[in-house]
Amino acid sequence: MDLKTPLVLLGPTFRMKKRILEKVGLETVEDFLFYIPFRYENNSVVYKIGILQFGEQATIQGEVIAAINIFTRRSLSIQKITIEDETGKIDAVFFNQKFILSNIKKGDFVSFAGRVEKFGSKKILTVRSYEVLPELNSEAIHTTGLVPVYSETRGLFSKWIRNRIKYLLEQAKIEEYLPENMIRENQLISLSAAIRNIHFPKTLEEAERARIRLSFDELLIKHAASLIRKKEQEQKKEATPFEIEKNRNKVRDLIKTLPFELTTAQKKAIEDVFSDLKKQTPMNRLLEGDVGSGKTVVAAIVAYLAFLNGYQTALMTPTEILANQHFSTFRTILEPFGVKVELFTSSNKKPKTKNLKFDVAVGTHALIHNRPKFDNLGLVVIDEQQRFGVEQRAILKEKGASPHLLSMTATPIPRTIFLTIYSDLALSVLDEMPKGRQKIKTWVVPEEKRDRGYRWISDKIRAEKSQVFVVCPFIEPSETLTSVKAAKVEFELLKKEVFEGFKLGLLHGRLKTSEKNSVIEKFREGSIDILVATPVIEVGIDIPTADIMIVEAAERFGLAQLHQLRGRVGRGDKQSYCFLFTQHHRGAGFTDSKSEKTLERLGYLQAIDNGPDLAEIDLKLRGPGDMLGTAQHGIPDLKIASLSDLPTIEKARKSAEHLFDKLNKFPMLKRKVEEADIPKISRD
Ligand code: ADP
Ligand code: MG
Repeated sequence: MDLKTPLVLLGPTFRMKKRILEKVGLETVEDFLFYIPFRYENNSVVYKIGILQFGEQATIQGEVIAAINIFTRRSLSIQKITIEDETGKIDAVFFNQKFILSNIKKGDFVSFAGRVEKFGSKKILTVRSYEVLPELNSEAIHTTGLVPVYSETRGLFSKWIRNRIKYLLEQAKIEEYLPENMIRENQLISLSAAIRNIHFPKTLEEAERARIRLSFDELLIKHAASLIRKKEQEQKKEATPFEIEKNRNKVRDLIKTLPFELTTAQKKAIEDVFSDLKKQTPMNRLLEGDVGSGKTVVAAIVAYLAFLNGYQTALMTPTEILANQHFSTFRTILEPFGVKVELFTSSNKKPKTKNLKFDVAVGTHALIHNRPKFDNLGLVVIDEQQRFGVEQRAILKEKGASPHLLSMTATPIPRTIFLTIYSDLALSVLDEMPKGRQKIKTWVVPEEKRDRGYRWISDKIRAEKSQVFVVCPFIEPSETLTSVKAAKVEFELLKKEVFEGFKLGLLHGRLKTSEKNSVIEKFREGSIDILVATPVIEVGIDIPTADIMIVEAAERFGLAQLHQLRGRVGRGDKQSYCFLFTQHHRGAGFTDSKSEKTLERLGYLQAIDNGPDLAEIDLKLRGPGDMLGTAQHGIPDLKIASLSDLPTIEKARKSAEHLFDKLNKFPMLKRKVEEADIPKISRD
């Protein structure tokens, strides 16, 4: 059986589950074999019935000599299956599972995993998992040894998956595609062994070696694909080079009008970009800089250069709030120089979009849904690029012949990972903060000092016109998160009981855009003292007068994310403050040791003031999945490989570079690399 065989051709078992399988992305035999268990249940070895002890977890195998249903009180039922091996017999019991009796019949050979318990003076086995064996000595896959547990979706259960995998493993022809010497040098196991052992390992070490081999492949293929993309990019000569030198003076004039001096890092980044733009190869550069490092103005200057060269710029942001803010920043900087800036968001519908003339389009993903009409798109800027998928970026680029691409992010990506997965990206880092910025004084505040904190803040607002952000994790209280302060509740509470007499505003994702804008504008003008918000403010908002931040339930955030959050204050030259409150005193299921760990983790924010270091600490303490707090972390989806597995990442990187020129010699591998390279263009 070929690995590319569609599952639906393999009979009704698969056909019946077609919809669910597609939903999980399982279409071919190969997809299915790469559906990796996320853990293993450790069942003991098979015991002989005669030697079972009370309290033991055990697996037994034997012949069914009786199978009956017993009704007990209140319509409960017990299914009693008596099984026998050469050393004795035992009753195995199920509770309220009458259907078992149609699966297990007298004379069947079965394998049961369960617990030996006392029933009167007798031993019985309460069954956890069971299977019927074709013959007494055939291999059991659900009840003995390490049993793989898969992530289960509605209607797709581990037991079913296990059976199908077992079947496919017997049928499928798994051919090796890695060069022999690569396998040898990296001490890998063969592909067929890896696939077999990832599902049915005899030991955990065996499972681990399988995981390493499959991770290696995944990283190798991703990296090789990105190397090819890089090469292709370099060979493309389709972009029109921008004129730089001729426009130097004009750019300098614009920079002179800025209310500040550019940092050295900003100047360097601008030069990096300019030298890319001189080339016929389209630029693909990432601008990485901690929150508040001043990425926006770099983008504005580059957009001006595009304008001077007769090209349009598209700047895409993940939220409307940010689009509005950038729209206003870009207008302030660029319009005095004759640049026409337009805003495109879903709530800012323009009746005659088609004929609209503009030089810079600022907007949300509304930019990619067919509006606006670009005549001559030469530069695409993606802000907070980690929030967008590959597809969305690709679609925006399609709007021009061969536009240059500048992506921006505050999310630091560890260097090894950057080299592996993003090898086709050039990198500029803003590693210097604008002058006059002060470190944000950060305190993790114990509950008993909460009131004192509030009083301190009130005084500060009265005396110095301080402005405060209060960040709460969710908008509505939900049953599962009853302990989490909802912003609405918090808003009411603060208004009535804590900050009486002050002006409070509420900002969350479910407000209408016009309401959001009006709240933000009021805060910006200073007619709101305290803005209670969900983390919508995390991304990009720039209000230099805000100087105090309170984060509620801070333990729910990653360190890097908290650092981005607090970066919303401390933008002016005033000393700024960040108060981190946790929920652990409010009985939110926090054990003492857990809350201690939390406090220790948050403590890093008091001492450390730089995003990349905090991200590294997060990576160590919480693992890569949580590194940036929530689901999106800007790193392509890795199915098997873990980003904290640096040795394998490094091996895969070296091997990919070695392989690069010889790829033609390995057609199967080449095909995989090419397939990995095709970006999916979908819009849902
Ligand atoms: P981010 O990199 O987080 O996107 P922004 O571009 O929003 O940061 O800039 C943050 C603030 O810093 C803005 O108010 C901006 O005007 C200001 N800023 C940018 N560059 C400088 C600079 N060189 N000196 C002083 N302030 C600057
Ligand atoms: Mg920004």
